[in-house]
Amino acid sequence: ELRGQVAVITGSTSGIGLAFARALAARGADVVLNGLGDPAEIERARAEIESGYGINARYHNADMRRGDEIADLVAFARHELGRLDILVNNAGIQHVEAVDKFPTDKWENIIAINLSAAFYAIRAAVPVMKAQGRGRIVNLASVHGLVASPYKSAYVAAKHGIIGLTKTVALEVAEHGVTCNAICPGYVWTPIVEKQLNDQMRTRGMGRDDVIKKVMLAAQPTRRFVTTDELSGMLAYLVSDAGASANGQAFVIDGGWTAA
Ligand code: NAD
Repeated sequence: ELRGQVAVITGSTSGIGLAFARALAARGADVVLNGLGDPAEIERARAEIESGYGINARYHNADMRRGDEIADLVAFARHELGRLDILVNNAGIQHVEAVDKFPTDKWENIIAINLSAAFYAIRAAVPVMKAQGRGRIVNLASVHGLVASPYKSAYVAAKHGIIGLTKTVALEVAEHGVTCNAICPGYVWTPIVEKQLNDQMRTRGMGRDDVIKKVMLAAQPTRRFVTTDELSGMLAYLVSDAGASANGQAFVIDGGWTAA
């Protein structure tokens, strides 16, 4: 149903972004992958997606801390694949530490990668989408775009920020067949969470099982991690024709976390 459409997914060498690239490719879209990692592994994933789904898959190594490289990524999608229909701003990092000890370089990087990168990508993509008369922008926020947890000042600030950006862009593009929405997952088991588990164990002086049960999944009433398939279902809806009137919203998939 997405045959002939082109999607850029930032941070798609791992976790949710990689699952999203597969989900869009499975529906027929050509995809541009992006993210960090071992070049040979990235090339394997790219080739597997391309042949597995019978679509064109490309890779661009833009560093999400660099606005010029992000603009390049968007231009690359157009030059390589001819269009840009779907932009998923997914790249993200985390650091868990008390605000008074929070390293300033971590703050700067989290704001750059989790918030400013989406601005740079949207800034480059909107003129293309407006000219096409159609486009879908999906930003990965988090439940931490709506509520806070201690020790995550930069992440919570960036995720609240991206919901504000989502709403503003939605208003600006609404009349052009373009939508801009955010997805707000609860805890999803991916490498970012695995790394955070170690930070949480250190910051809180707790063991692995205790952090999982008493910290991570304490607020998630399902008491299990959200799956990437569950998120891909929402993405598929938002980028579909049926999603045309869903605009400027933050769609929460958190096992009931923010219902409490
Ligand atoms: P992940 O660590 O598995 O993936 C992050 C991706 O971002 C990787 O591909 C990585 O290479 C890329 N990336 C990081 N820094 C980059 C940089 N400077 N330049 C380019 N790419 C860079 O994490 P994930 O869990 O898949 O997270 C994806 C998104 O979902 C993030 O925005 C995250 O905040 C959000 N999210 C995750 C969860 C969760 O529980 N996993 C919950 C809510 C929101």
